[in-house]
Amino acid sequence: MRVLVVEDEPTLAAQLAEGLGAEGYAVDLARDGVDAHFQGDDESRPHDAVILDLGLPRMDGITVLKKWRAAGRRMPVLILTARDNWHEKVAGIDAGADDYLTKPFHMEELLARLRALIRRTGGHSSAELACGPVVLDTRNSRVVVDGRALALTGHEYRVLDYLMHHQGEIVSRSTLIRHIYAQDFDRDSNTVEVFIARLRKKLPPGLIETERGLGYRLVCPR
Ligand code: CA
Repeated sequence: MRVLVVEDEPTLAAQLAEGLGAEGYAVDLARDGVDAHFQGDDESRPHDAVILDLGLPRMDGITVLKKWRAAGRRMPVLILTARDNWHEKVAGIDAGADDYLTKPFHMEELLARLRALIRRTGGHSSAELACGPVVLDTRNSRVVVDGRALALTGHEYRVLDYLMHHQGEIVSRSTLIRHIYAQDFDRDSNTVEVFIARLRKKLPPGLIETERGLGYRLVCPR
């Protein structure tokens, strides 16, 4: 999953990037409203969720959010608001925010709210995603097959996580690339094939189908 973090305070931005990275998210950072608007509006790099501070240089967070929504950008947005500023929360939710957190917050709470937002967007209400014998727990990034823990690298996990959130759908290679890599990383599309091949070796046979010329599909036995 790919997350855009918009935060102008360098220490907090670094903490967010580190905490999210450790949970397996690909993280893009924006430090002012103009850059945030540009990155969130870039359809070639869609984000699965956005963490948006409201007090930002160059363009405030509410304006950024209104512009995204007016342009039809529908990714879930969690806003960060100053303490005791209920006006800001109301304005943020009216502008299209899906959830909010008041500063200062605990990283664990932010991570839990983010997981819930991403789940709800994908139509899942549980923290555990299942596909046949495979169970992926989004709370601790663990994958279990028939009760046995599976050892996955970060990238393998991200690929499987995306497919589990989109079971039954055809997911193109370019979509996977956009959702597993942060902006600064090497984005060689051949590496997706490598991750898929490794996942196939670790997962029960037949789970990941190749749709020739289109992409991959996670097929879950009933
Ligand atoms: Ca700020």
